[in-house]
Amino acid sequence: MASDFAQLVKQQADIVKIIGDYVRLKKAGAQNFSGLCPFHKEKSPSFSVHATRQFFHCFGCGVSGDVFSFIQKVENVSFPESVRFVAQKCGIPLPKREFSSEEEAQESRQRTKLLELHELATAWFEEQLRSPEGALAREYLSGRGLKPEEIQKFRIGFAPDSFHALRERLQPVADQETLRLSGLFSFKEQEDGKPGPLYSKFRKRVTFPIANESGRVIAFTARALEAGEKAGPKYMNSPETPLYSKGNVLFNLDKARQAIRETGFAVLVEGQMDCISVYLAGVKNVIATSGTAFTEAQVRLLSRYTTRIIVNFDPDTAGANAAEKSIALLTEEGFEVRVVTLEGGLDPDRYIREQGAPAYMAALRGAKRHSDYLIERARQLFPPTTADAKVKALNFLLPHIKRMPNRITRDEFAADAAQKIGIDSALVREELKQAAAKRRDSLEHALPAMSEAEKVLLRALAGALSEAACQAAAAGFDANEIHFEGLTVASLLKQLRHRGAVDPMHAIEDPAARGLLAKALNGEMEPISPEQVTAALDTLRHRHLERRQRELRAAIADAERKGDAALVVSLTAEKLSIDRALREF
Ligand SMILES: [Zn+2]
Repeated sequence: MASDFAQLVKQQADIVKIIGDYVRLKKAGAQNFSGLCPFHKEKSPSFSVHATRQFFHCFGCGVSGDVFSFIQKVENVSFPESVRFVAQKCGIPLPKREFSSEEEAQESRQRTKLLELHELATAWFEEQLRSPEGALAREYLSGRGLKPEEIQKFRIGFAPDSFHALRERLQPVADQETLRLSGLFSFKEQEDGKPGPLYSKFRKRVTFPIANESGRVIAFTARALEAGEKAGPKYMNSPETPLYSKGNVLFNLDKARQAIRETGFAVLVEGQMDCISVYLAGVKNVIATSGTAFTEAQVRLLSRYTTRIIVNFDPDTAGANAAEKSIALLTEEGFEVRVVTLEGGLDPDRYIREQGAPAYMAALRGAKRHSDYLIERARQLFPPTTADAKVKALNFLLPHIKRMPNRITRDEFAADAAQKIGIDSALVREELKQAAAKRRDSLEHALPAMSEAEKVLLRALAGALSEAACQAAAAGFDANEIHFEGLTVASLLKQLRHRGAVDPMHAIEDPAARGLLAKALNGEMEPISPEQVTAALDTLRHRHLERRQRELRAAIADAERKGDAALVVSLTAEKLSIDRALREF
């Protein structure tokens, strides 16, 4: 890895200018800028960029990093690509030898191989379904009303009850490491830490391939044919692999995308089986999450095709919760959301089998606006017959109302809610106003307070701006470590001191701690001097002594009450030495 080149690019790149192409940045302090975070939805800025220390940090969602991690995230590219991207922006010529092309070529070869393995596995599972061993699976599928040509269309298959048959099929075309990466196999870790022999992950299950947008199979969902502990969970998914990330994929989007464009909207259901039934009933613009709430990545993916959606989740509690979460995310992203609840508490698959496709189409046409759905749900959860229940119903609805990005629809929602719960609409408006005021308070202020001395030490230990101050702080920290116990930033100081050559913001893993560090660094006016470090160390030592003095006073009084003369003597001795140390300050 040409990290020297990356280092060079980083030194020459102006992080404010580069991020400024994506985020409107305003000067917020001597060295830092702030703007609306591009990685989470927000209305008041909690995203900050430090010009001299060359990092960004969001106090809202906790993301941080350097100019390369920003480009990686925002452009969805690899590290080498981000380096090249920044270099080009700054007009820095790339090294002669095409930068890290070997690594990228390797990655691309691996992806191609994994796609090939998934294709082979899909075909093999299909073959197994047609074999005598697949009888039980065929029976299950025909029981769910699927005809052979429909099974073929979705490439549904059968994973037989064998640990090694799939491995034997795939072994001739890939090495063990690639087979392991495919996610199609499990293995036990051996004593030497290496993976043991691979065996089939899916056994005695019906397999549903999950394809990417262009229809290539990248993962599987597999349904157990038997119930009970031995059979394992009812549904089993491929793990995250270089090809597949659950939150980034929408099931059936490859088949649905044309219809979504034509109809101008999408239907969202929970499970694969629901999705297949709805599709076969003639509603071709249907997609599914894999039994989870929507993710932001999925919203972005879908928004390339439409911003109108009908949500049709199971009416059970889990389904209703998933629906609420998905509605929240979708409305926040500006989607127009409608919701269908099917009569009799049925899921889409059963509803279509029992009531027929035309009834399902009619239900879709009768989909409610999401605000009406939520108000009804609030009334169900908290029947508004008492004042207390009305408050609860309102509290259930407020976050949803606040999320609406458009003021007119937000006000409409609020007025409807007030009317249907039976409360004064002025009260709802007041609540909304207060929420807006609270939002304006920067999230930075929500972090614990730090004393000026703590901030000085953090800044000095974070290095970069002043080498002498950094060394003074390091020496002071080593000599006084005990005096820092009990400080908000104690563990942060320790991590910074022992981070070695790692970038300060990279060295801190906990987002809250990183927030504290960013807060201290953002408030920096000018480089710290060694004298400031000495003064800060003195202040903290002084404070530690005073704290200990107070503790001892209480302990001595306590020992006297208990008549423990020996303890009084030893505690008093310690207190005297502390009194002396404090006088010497
Ligand atoms: Zn953020």
